Amino acid sequence: MKILVTGGAGYIGSHCVLALLEQKNDVIVIDNLSTGHLETIETLKKYGNLKFYNLDLVKSKNLSIIFNENNIDAVIHFAAFSQVGESVKNPQKYYINNVVGTLNLLQAMLENNVKKIVFSSTAATYGEPEYIPIDENHSQKPINPYGQSKLMIEKIMDDYSNAYNLKSVRLRYFNVAGADSHTRIGEWHNPETHLIPNILKSKFKDGQIFKMFGDDYNTKDGTCVRDYIDIEDLVNAHILALEYLNNGGETNFFNLGTNNGNSVKEVFSTCERVLGEKIAVQIEARRAGDPASLVANNSKAKKYLNWTPKISLENSIKNAYEWEKVLQERI
Ligand code: UDP
Repeated sequence: MKILVTGGAGYIGSHCVLALLEQKNDVIVIDNLSTGHLETIETLKKYGNLKFYNLDLVKSKNLSIIFNENNIDAVIHFAAFSQVGESVKNPQKYYINNVVGTLNLLQAMLENNVKKIVFSSTAATYGEPEYIPIDENHSQKPINPYGQSKLMIEKIMDDYSNAYNLKSVRLRYFNVAGADSHTRIGEWHNPETHLIPNILKSKFKDGQIFKMFGDDYNTKDGTCVRDYIDIEDLVNAHILALEYLNNGGETNFFNLGTNNGNSVKEVFSTCERVLGEKIAVQIEARRAGDPASLVANNSKAKKYLNWTPKISLENSIKNAYEWEKVLQERI
């Protein structure tokens, strides 16, 4: 198949491109390289037939031409800004990039009669959890512009499904972790804000002492609990979602998580085990906007997509650490 991947130079998008290439699909990537990396695209090109367009979904007038030129069968849409804190400070950036960018993409799809899209949504569309684990029937009341922008897109996709028969699968990610198990690509944010790479980076030259944000939550050990899903398991759900749409599946939405919560302290001690040494830590105040616990109920994705996450948190951290060593050589 010929699959268009937006945001294919970013963390999750690039791992999905790699999986699609390994399955012998032709992959067309659109990315404006605002947070993604050209080096990642160069690496991916070694593994199959990949065409890259350095384009912005908001500004480009050429989206329809790209669909037409490449005979696209389906779209996987990752391109978005995803920092919660930044979205609170600069909501315009998020609404324009995430919502307008998606509207333009959907317009080009309709113009070219492409009727299948897999979309990267988020657990942030649920807002403050009313119960744990969170299933897909949980109310959606986002508490920041990032989550709002993703929820708006989900609603737009419902309307386009009803009106134009444009079928979507929205995948609501919990906390994504790890890297390619062959260390070809991995997580590469600048600045890095996520827990696991920040713990691992503290061992390297550019790393700062690891700061643990809050140990006074009402959880098993006082630190926040999250559901960490490995990037390769997550990507596999996208491949299965495409299959689901190709087999005539209706517009739908699924949580992607493991059903297991790990506290920040548990993640930290797993990192120490993987590194085989003690890591320095500084306890800080709570980070604004962090709910105490976020854990997925993933039974819907298991049932409809036949998806099962397989990679343990420890193996995910091992892959992240192997990648971090590669990245440290590069930067
Ligand atoms: N966290 C931390 N120190 C860091 C980064 C994150 O203690 O340097 C905590 C954060 O407060 C949250 C959890 O780790 O409780 C996961 O945060 P992350 O930013 O990785 O993902 P999020 O849950 O915000 O999507």
